[in-house]
Amino acid sequence: MSTLPSSALRLVPLGGLGEIGMNCLAVEADDGIVVVDCGVTFPQTDLGIDVFHPDFSYLEERRSRIAGVVITHGHEDHIGGLPYLLRCADVPVWAPAHAMNLAKERLVERGFELRQLKLNTIVPRTRYKIGPLSVEPVRVTHSILEACALILRTPAGTIVHTGDFKFDPTPPDGEHMDVERLKQVGDEGVRLLLSDSTNIDAPASSGSEKLVGEAIDKLVQDAPARVIVGLFSSNVQRLIMLGEIAQRHRRRICLLGRSANTHVRIATQMERLGWPSDLLVPSESVQAVPRSSLLVLASGTQAEPVAAMWRMATRSHPALALDPGDRVILSSRIIPGNDPAVLRMIGHLLRQGVEVRSRITDPEVHVSGHAHRDEQRRMLELVRPQSFVPVHGTLHHLHRHAQFARSLGQPDVLVAENGDVVEVGAGPLRKIDEVAVGKVATYDGEEISDDVLRERESLGRTGIAVVTLVVDVRGQLLSPPLLSTRGVLDAGEDKDLMRGAALEIAQALSGRPFASERPTDEQIIEVAQRAVRRNLDGISGRRPVAVVHVVRP
Ligand SMILES: [Zn+2]
Ligand SMILES: [Zn+2]
Repeated sequence: MSTLPSSALRLVPLGGLGEIGMNCLAVEADDGIVVVDCGVTFPQTDLGIDVFHPDFSYLEERRSRIAGVVITHGHEDHIGGLPYLLRCADVPVWAPAHAMNLAKERLVERGFELRQLKLNTIVPRTRYKIGPLSVEPVRVTHSILEACALILRTPAGTIVHTGDFKFDPTPPDGEHMDVERLKQVGDEGVRLLLSDSTNIDAPASSGSEKLVGEAIDKLVQDAPARVIVGLFSSNVQRLIMLGEIAQRHRRRICLLGRSANTHVRIATQMERLGWPSDLLVPSESVQAVPRSSLLVLASGTQAEPVAAMWRMATRSHPALALDPGDRVILSSRIIPGNDPAVLRMIGHLLRQGVEVRSRITDPEVHVSGHAHRDEQRRMLELVRPQSFVPVHGTLHHLHRHAQFARSLGQPDVLVAENGDVVEVGAGPLRKIDEVAVGKVATYDGEEISDDVLRERESLGRTGIAVVTLVVDVRGQLLSPPLLSTRGVLDAGEDKDLMRGAALEIAQALSGRPFASERPTDEQIIEVAQRAVRRNLDGISGRRPVAVVHVVRP
């Protein structure tokens, strides 16, 4: 690592720059490190992975210097990595109450004793001294309660990190964006702005949550039977409006799905929902509620196969079977990559005679929680930073946001990716080094190694052949090879082909193809592996994973 003047500061992004998800940024002064956010990202392929978290080696090696982790808000891409980081570094965590309550769920799930952790709640417009920095949260509007931007006062000057934000002029929870504070800090002078790039391709403004409420209200009002709203349940602002809509149209709410239940429970504990006790119907009795008196809120808008929405679509939900004339509203966007699955789910619903409303048919049923271009411009104009680094986006988003900022006259703009070490000193921003970064796959809280993932991928592509050989000391077969395959041949129908493959293995071994009189297991395995893979390649066009067992009686 380069040596720097003591006034300089380094930014080391470990996740979230060059990808959407898994946000984690180390802000490093000479006398300590503050980590901003600690998130996870979800897999696009089905290899048995729950989540990926950032590779924390960089922080682990410097754990004694970490003063704390500051969380901007409670979305999984900002809090989900905490259990994994806290396993390798016992550091204090600072978060708004809502994010902290969600993080606690994750920590307890992973076996942490909460009282042994150093958890601190933060509120806006208050300064917290965390190691080398003073950290002040600023309220921003976003698709979750209590989202914050952070004003970081550092030895290199003031840094503003927007967190995830939009400018919602009419937030349903009544918590307005603290535009005034952002402007004040802009007046005082900001050395660097780090700002959310997610929606850089979207024109104009993202629109208020209130409009979503109005659109759904209309769709509930004229619905003849059940209404099922699929949503990202962490959006408590939307839950607040759905509670009002249900009461206005004399419908009771049933929550289907773990995520919906968790988020409603936490928001209720925090007195943010204020739903009357008889508003909710337990899922056990939902089928008995008159259809025109029911509003179901369900998790699983992305057609996740275990989630409530998919199970209703496929008539496999244990609590509720839909009927023709019911109305499903998908109050969500389709995350890129999920389109085919979501359209399949919509197909299953339509086949049941259920009416489906989505952002495709009714654009107002969802708005994004991330700033569109006009809002991103407004952020730059409020903060007026000396330097700018776009964050929270793929490289495409970061470059577009950088371009946009330059077009608005922003002088010093730098695009950095995960692993780039950015120096914030007296002059323009500079990349001074690179550190190792990566993502770690986990299932049920435990790491899955790269080797295991590679094997899973090959198994999916080619299938597997398992061969058992009973041999004497010279490596000669004492009985015909036993061969089974999975995902290669149809064991029931391709008996002749299987016999042919076994024969080829026998032939390969019978010619004494070994260097020594008394071949080792490894030498025998190599010959058999080659033979079986060659043979099956000839039949199926694929060289499967081949596992050979040698038995010596
Ligand atoms: Zn967010
Ligand atoms: Zn985010």
